[in-house]
Amino acid sequence: MIIIAIDGTSASGKGFISTTLSSALMFPSLDTGALYRACALKVLESFNFAEGLRDNNETFKEIENGFPDGYPDNFFDITEEDIILCVKQFYYSGEVFKYSTKKLIRSEMVSRFVPVVAKIPEVREFMKEYQFKFAIEPEPLPGQKKENIIGAIIEGRDIGTVIYPNADLKLFITASLEARAKRRFLDYQNSGDETTTYEEVYESLKARDEADKNRAVSPLKPADDAIIIDTSDMDKNQVIDFIMKIAHERIGEHVFENAEKQKQQIAMEAEKAANQLTEEQEDNEVEEEERPLKMQPKGPVAEYKPIDLDSIQKAQSSLDEALMMTSEIENIMSSTENNNSEEDDEEEYDNIGNLKE
Ligand code: C5P
Repeated sequence: MIIIAIDGTSASGKGFISTTLSSALMFPSLDTGALYRACALKVLESFNFAEGLRDNNETFKEIENGFPDGYPDNFFDITEEDIILCVKQFYYSGEVFKYSTKKLIRSEMVSRFVPVVAKIPEVREFMKEYQFKFAIEPEPLPGQKKENIIGAIIEGRDIGTVIYPNADLKLFITASLEARAKRRFLDYQNSGDETTTYEEVYESLKARDEADKNRAVSPLKPADDAIIIDTSDMDKNQVIDFIMKIAHERIGEHVFENAEKQKQQIAMEAEKAANQLTEEQEDNEVEEEERPLKMQPKGPVAEYKPIDLDSIQKAQSSLDEALMMTSEIENIMSSTENNNSEEDDEEEYDNIGNLKE
């Protein structure tokens, strides 16, 4: 398995780089920050800091921005033992991945609390196990077959230094505090958060950098053999160009070719599935049309012949002719009766008015 380790500071663009490389190389990626955030959210919930607030939009906003009236006195007073026990239960409950996809893990409150949880060695041990499992058997990308996976991307703070010191490629992504605060502030604004100020974001990132760099276990620092990329003055396209150049050189063309083949295979299978779906839909439509016929009763009704308008018209005109003849006969009869009485049975007529011989 080819391992790419991507470490770096918050809002430096490591997430974007990892997603871009993941789809270019068809390597599943793991955001380990999301695992620590999931643990932090779980701890906050367990100690009722976030309990019951998730479904309430107003208070959800409060969580997004931290507590508007300042953090409660006991916010950081949860003991290390409490956190270890909570994370241990959380880890064995198998809920970590589910939590790591929750929107709430990105809230400002969780962002501020996560270094408190992430600095505890026991917590890091649980997360380490999770990360090892992922690299051995990564979750395939959509449509990807497990047997085609030849590499994985792990993104975090200590991947190249502690988790995968033998990674095939190590990138360390950073940017100035100002550039990162500006990006994160724009993210908040674009997501509709009008209340968090640039200064708050700046201070929060600064505090997190310090906590991550100065902790005793797995501090944030580049591995000796990591390629350091400063994205402060780069736009997204420049970042992509730079990263792709490195990947072509360091990971090799065969991996890109393999990724292309996988993508073509996935596209073909998706097309096949779409065609099959269309055929099934068409079959269903035909069945819909046929249904009224199927509902017709069998037997005599099924033998019923459609009405022949021509024969009705013919019958009608024959009837009209017959009626006309009848009235003519009646006229003739009555006139004959008159004649007979007048001419004393000189001539005899048959009953349709012809003269009898
Ligand atoms: O990458 P992200 O900003 O989501 O990470 C959130 C926090 O999780 C970091 O500030 C850090 O405290 C912690 N973290 C860590 N080790 C990692 C990934 C994240 O300690 N490998």
